[in-house]
This record gives sequence, C-alpha cells and structure tokens, in this order.
Amino acid sequence: MPENTVITPDIQFVRELKEAGGDTLKKCYQCATCSVVCPMSPDNKPFPRKEMIMAQWGMREELSADPDIWLCHNCNDCSKYCPRGARPGDVLSVMRQKVIKENAVPGFMGNIVTDPKKTLVALAIPFVLFLVVLGLTGHLKIPSGEKIVYSEFFPIRYIEVIFISAVALTGISYLISLNGFWTKMSKQNGLSYTKGFVPALTETIVEFLTHKRFEKCEVNADRKTGHLLVFYAFLGLLITTIWITYYYYVPKIHSPIPLSDPMKWLANLSALALIAGVLILIYNRTKDKGVDTKNSSFDWTFVVMILLLAVTGILTELIRLAGIASLAYPMYFIHLTFVFYTIVYFPYSKLAHMGYRTLAITYSKMTGRDVM
Ligand code: SF4
Ligand code: SF4
Repeated sequence: MPENTVITPDIQFVRELKEAGGDTLKKCYQCATCSVVCPMSPDNKPFPRKEMIMAQWGMREELSADPDIWLCHNCNDCSKYCPRGARPGDVLSVMRQKVIKENAVPGFMGNIVTDPKKTLVALAIPFVLFLVVLGLTGHLKIPSGEKIVYSEFFPIRYIEVIFISAVALTGISYLISLNGFWTKMSKQNGLSYTKGFVPALTETIVEFLTHKRFEKCEVNADRKTGHLLVFYAFLGLLITTIWITYYYYVPKIHSPIPLSDPMKWLANLSALALIAGVLILIYNRTKDKGVDTKNSSFDWTFVVMILLLAVTGILTELIRLAGIASLAYPMYFIHLTFVFYTIVYFPYSKLAHMGYRTLAITYSKMTGRDVM
C-alpha cells in the first residue's frame, strides 16, 4: 500500500510570504509554464512551479532547505510568461529573504534587519553606540584644530574595538547560519555527490566573478552591469580597508591620505562604481519591462542603504577638502553608521545572499543538478 504524506499548511508562513511581497502566490494554478521557460532550471524536478505549490502550502522547513530558490537569479522571465500573473520570480525573491531570516543567528537580529519597518531601529543601534562611546571618552565635540582629521574626533582605536568585535561576532553567527543551511539542505535533499566540494566551489566563484548566469536572463538582462559594478565596488572597498590598515600599522602613514595616493584612487573609484551600480539597479527596477513585477521593500531597503553608504562616504571626503569642520565631522559620524549597517549586518541583509547562493550553487554542482 502506498504511504500517505500528511502536510499541515503553515498558514502563518503563507501570510508572512504574502505580506513581504509574495502576495500573488495564491494565483498559481500549477500550469508549469514558469519551469519550462526558466533558463536556470534543470529538467529533473525543475523550479519554480514546485516552489509555488510549496509556498501555497506554507512548507516553511522544505523551502528553507531548498537549494533551487538560490539557483534563481530573479530574471523574471517566468513572471513574463505566467498566464496567471502569479509573479513566480518575485515570490522566489521573497522566499530567499525568508530563508535568511529563518537561518539567522541570533534570531532577533534576523527579525530586525530583514524587516524594512525596523530599519530605523537597526540604524539606531550603531548611532547610539557611537554617541555613548564618544560621550564617555570626551570626544563628542568638534575638534578645535585647523586641519580636519577624523581620527581626532573618533580615534582609530575605538573604531577598531567596535568594528573588530562586532564583525567577529556576526562573522561567527553567519558561519553558524550557513552551516545550519548546508546541513538542512544536504539532509533534506539526500542526493549523492558526483563532484567534490572544492572543484564545485571553484566553478561557482568563477561564475560570480564573471556574472555568467545573468547572461541567460531576458527580461532583466541589463541588471548584469549594475550588479557587476556593485560587486566589484565592494571588492575595491574591501581592498582599500586592508590597504589603509597596512598604512596605519606598517609604514605608519595616517589619515588624511593625499588624493594622489593609489589607495585613494581605488577608494574613490570604488565609491563612484557603487553609486553608478546602484543607480543602474534602481533604474532597472523602476523602468517598464513590459511585465508585471514588484520589488520587495527588503530589496529597496538594501539599495537605499548602499546608496547612502556611498554618498555619505563621498560627502565625508568633499566636505573635508572644503574645510567645513562643523559639517565634516557629523557627516563622518553618519557615514560610520552606514558602514556599520553594511558590514556588521551582512549576515542578515541582502548581502547574506552571497553565502547562501554560493553554498546552494556549489551543492547543486556537486549533485549534478546545476544546468550552467
Ligand atoms: S506560477 Fe504561473 S506559470 Fe508557474 S505554475 Fe503557477 S500559474 Fe503556471
Ligand atoms: S526569475 Fe528567472 S531564474 Fe528565477 S525562476 Fe524565474 S525564470 Fe527562473
């Protein structure tokens, strides 16, 4: 006698998906057009049709261990051809947001950062922390020197203690989350491996560096340029941070670094690339693509935060060069708040995609599911 599978719908999860932007998921009538047109979907157990029914049933556990929602690159070709206007591409995007929240350690940080309504709370945490540190150490004032030197306002040792400890904590949390995700994914899917972890991971990283997957998109094809710019801008800013730390400790070159220094060129180029990339992404999101799609407020929050990070960084430098101390130091303070948001909240924001997507694509390559 065949075994019966009993599924208890998680109504709360369905409600959460709908509220977060997947409001059309109930329109799906399982025709599978989306799975046929999706350029990323394998022939065996294709997506996103099966994810749409899992979402309708509120299968929280199954979706949070599903590698296929991370193979999707939000090109929305499926939404274009869906006869019911169920917008499967957008629904999958919301599912990824939910997976980040489900796997977040500690859970309350996932609740705060993945909920756009709590963005002000998330920003208030570093803002108040910086105020307290500067207040307690007697630095909560505009330094009197003629030259604007940010380390006289916010000493480097305080920045190091705050950022290194916060990044170490969230870095460990992120590793725990990713480990949990990998364990659930490999346990639930139970597929046998046809390729080793290292070769599969290497292929995945090469794909990221070239953004090869984006070339398969039809509706969202021009998103590749914006995404590439943002990706390499972050890489440039990471190299800049390491470079400036080296300057500080080894040849003991301290800020302000002259504009003629190659480290400054890289920093400024990266900031400009970030602004250009984000503006392209915003344009792409708002233009009429001839298909009904909707970006979730989670996606919008990320884009706005990144834009504010880059703009406040450029303003911090320009106002310093203009010599307006009363504006320069507060702007630096605000910029540090956005830097904290971007770096320390990495495991809970849209940037967390990087780790989840890397693992899911690597797993799919190891199990022979990936079609790239
Ligand atoms: S999401 Fe649309 S295209 Fe996909 S199965 Fe449902 S109705 Fe069909
Ligand atoms: S958005 Fe694109 S990649 Fe994602 S499921 Fe739809 S067609 Fe496939």
